[in-house]
Amino acid sequence: MNITKVESEPKLIAFVSRIPASEVEQWILILNKLLPDSDVCLFDSLTQLQKQQCTLAVVANPDPEDLRQLPNLKWVHSTWAGVERMVAELMVAGSGVSFPIVRLVDPALAQTMEEAVLAWTLYLHRDMPTYRMQQANAQWVQLPYVASSDRTVAILGLGKLGALAARRLHVNGFRVLGWSRHKKTLESIQTFATEDGLKTVLSQSDIVINLLPLTHETRGLLNAERFGQCKRGVSIINFGRGATINEIDLITSLDAGLVSHAVLDVFEKEPLTVNHPYWAHEKITVLPHISAPTNISSASKIVANNIREYYKSGLIPEAVDCALGY
Ligand code: NAP
Repeated sequence: MNITKVESEPKLIAFVSRIPASEVEQWILILNKLLPDSDVCLFDSLTQLQKQQCTLAVVANPDPEDLRQLPNLKWVHSTWAGVERMVAELMVAGSGVSFPIVRLVDPALAQTMEEAVLAWTLYLHRDMPTYRMQQANAQWVQLPYVASSDRTVAILGLGKLGALAARRLHVNGFRVLGWSRHKKTLESIQTFATEDGLKTVLSQSDIVINLLPLTHETRGLLNAERFGQCKRGVSIINFGRGATINEIDLITSLDAGLVSHAVLDVFEKEPLTVNHPYWAHEKITVLPHISAPTNISSASKIVANNIREYYKSGLIPEAVDCALGY
């Protein structure tokens, strides 16, 4: 954490985003209610002088050009948990990132993700995709029941979201394996790190769930080679970011029977284009990025608390490591 001097700072906060106007209005209204001593203003409404005065911005998928017009920013607070797009765009823009980027860490969002992980794991565990297809063909076939304790589920990424999801699956009777950059200690979860650790995890798991951030290391991580290292007939759930999966390799592996089903909530390009092959693939369940949406009510309280604490003590909350990308 960073500590900085704040007494003389004007409490003028720019809201910089490329989200729908109705959401922006809501955010600005709520933040101004929660922060009565500050003035949260839409970026486009700021004068040149006010842009010079802003030391803090709240952002939701901001245009890097807008951020460049705020030369005195000390830090920015994202209303999103994943900030890879913002980090990449600021890096590509050439000037690097000269201020800390604080992402949203919201226990309510982690709970929502935990629920989604459980729901879609059960969907695969209880063979719902197969029964859906059987119904479409008026087929009455009872598949053998497999107990949850006989299913191994892998969670890739044991951060704020992955660690809770792993615990929830364990509580629901699954055998859970976890993989992260640094080896973690989590009660009742077998954890792994390194490339060899990933191979072990993939080779033992019936369901593999991606909850990794998108970085230069995780882009394309789940490719033909990795699908080949999985247990034959593995199912995949992607709740992290679309580009962690190589799309062509996934379709090839589904068609070859290496992967039996994929539940995809995130995509390289969103919304998914109408002619994308994923839509019509019988072994793919497409979700429109809904596994854990930001809850404005809980998220705004967290953002406001961090800002209040900053104006009181000068404490900037833990920021993302822009070199690592998360
Ligand atoms: P986080 O707290 O930053 O955790 C990231 C985890 O990934 C950490 O365990 C980290 O390992 C691990 N990791 C990162 N790079 C790795 C690598 N190269 N190899 C192995 N492990 C690696 O992030 P989070 O809050 O849990 O969120 C995870 C992601 O979920 C976000 O980045 C976002 O993309 C996605 N998300 C999706 C939705 C949705 O609705 N679909 C909603 C919110 C978030 P260490 O612990 O060792 O650092």
